[in-house]
Amino acid sequence: MPRKCSRCGSEDAEVNLPYARLSLCRDCFLEYYVGRIKRTVEKYRMFHEDETVGVAVSGGKDSAALLHGLRRAFPNQKIVALHVNLGIPEYSDRCQEEAERLADLVGVDIHILDLKREENVSLSDFRRTVFKKKICSVCGTIKRHSFEEIARRAGVKVLATGHNMDDMLSFMLNSFFTKQWTQLIRLKPVLPPLFSWMTRKVKPLIRTSGRENLLYCLYAGVPFTEIECPYSRGAKAKEKLKILETLSMNNPNFKYQALDAFLEISKILEEKIRLQEATPCVKCGFPSLNGVCAYCKRMAYVKEALSNG
Ligand code: SF4
Ligand code: ZN
Repeated sequence: MPRKCSRCGSEDAEVNLPYARLSLCRDCFLEYYVGRIKRTVEKYRMFHEDETVGVAVSGGKDSAALLHGLRRAFPNQKIVALHVNLGIPEYSDRCQEEAERLADLVGVDIHILDLKREENVSLSDFRRTVFKKKICSVCGTIKRHSFEEIARRAGVKVLATGHNMDDMLSFMLNSFFTKQWTQLIRLKPVLPPLFSWMTRKVKPLIRTSGRENLLYCLYAGVPFTEIECPYSRGAKAKEKLKILETLSMNNPNFKYQALDAFLEISKILEEKIRLQEATPCVKCGFPSLNGVCAYCKRMAYVKEALSNG
């Protein structure tokens, strides 16, 4: 006999959540998932009811689950979707299509920034430069800058991203072992704006695993693309998480304990370390540490490299 759902007791359980000692049917899982988004937003005071929340949607499962789940958790909140088309052949256009389909389904406006149209450069162009091996790092810089820019144009002051608990733990572990303390400090559920015109970055999925985001999309019929970015080194990133998976085998709560421990370390570090103050980039006004921001530096470099053939 299949086990019954621990919440409703009538349907067969399909999702096992050992850390919460729950086995849930589809409907109760969806409700539990949305409830956790609501609790996380409230716990960290991510936004107020009179603010417009911009959700960064990539076309993938995490941000798709975030937009759909946020809409259900906060039915009266003003929400808009934000998307960046990076110009990666056979990938970016598919992502944009899914992001548009999702926004349509959820019933929110979508604002898109097309990198190629905007800068006459696509992410792929960096593959022909010294950045070939650091493409994900360049991509991160471009996305941070571009999402902030679309948010500015859309008049949005809260930017929600789909970073899940596994992503966060992976970044935290990496920052910790490479002693990148500034980076570790910035990995928090709510990151205040560096300049007053910028957004507050919030991570409502910080306590939700990637697997649960996938299940949410599948059960709730949320559209997302399963195509992986051609430049992804997914296997290598997952390697770092293996240690956490192993430690979770005997203690289902381990990931939550690790997350809370890192968040506490980050708070202590924040009190001890004086972060270097950012000044506005002379070209675009975004934060920089020495006059020109990382985005403008990379753009100038790739344009120069392309013009030299
Ligand atoms: Fe960007 Fe790397 Fe992600 Fe591709 S895998 S979208 S290059 S960060
Ligand atoms: Zn700049």
